Amino acid sequence: MEVQHLNYILSYFSVSSNLSKTCNPLTCYQGVFHCGYHSEASYGATSYLIMHPQGNILVDSPRYTKQLAHNIEMLGGARYMFLTHRDDVADHEKWSKRLSCDRIIHSKEVDENTADAEMKLEGLGPWSLSNDFEFIHTPGHSEASVCLFYKPLKILFTGDHLCEHENELSIMEMYNYFSVPVQLNSVRKLLYLDFEWILPGHGRRVQYKDNQEKNSALEAFLATKEQLKVN
Ligand SMILES: [Zn+2]
Repeated sequence: MEVQHLNYILSYFSVSSNLSKTCNPLTCYQGVFHCGYHSEASYGATSYLIMHPQGNILVDSPRYTKQLAHNIEMLGGARYMFLTHRDDVADHEKWSKRLSCDRIIHSKEVDENTADAEMKLEGLGPWSLSNDFEFIHTPGHSEASVCLFYKPLKILFTGDHLCEHENELSIMEMYNYFSVPVQLNSVRKLLYLDFEWILPGHGRRVQYKDNQEKNSALEAFLATKEQLKVN
């Protein structure tokens, strides 16, 4: 995921001036896009689009607009809409109708608003989607939050489970409405996943040099939290 890939994608899309226009405000990153159009109904959460030969995946719900729908269709539409947890579902129904995408959410995150979701994850996972994606059960922020691990690019889409805030890792305790200790246990699970990127719903994105640097950061973060518990 070097800068040249970013340039490659950008120049690819600038081949057509129309496309380059419609790409904005989608920020491209080697087939992973920041959708923009944050929705108040998702607490302003960030939504991403992953381009994939077996079907694009929309991660969490942006605000529905015709312009964004058009932009996504220009990129091949979306076969799935993965919802990390109940908070960031916003306009999922409109997206599902427009793009005919299957919505994926953990059954314990389903409420009457999302009762019609096409694919409900049951149990503790992990669950696979093709060889490239794994859904990781990371409860804590909510009862059954799930992260999406995109293996080829070593990206973890974390929803509200983990992000960077003021240059430090954060689980956003003040917004926790299930269990902070459970959430910390779920952070510990991430030591066993080989990823280098954290793309969250809120807060800053993080890029590590490699898995080792990621694990050092996670361990330091968990040690600080342990320290707070002891004191
Ligand atoms: Zn949330």
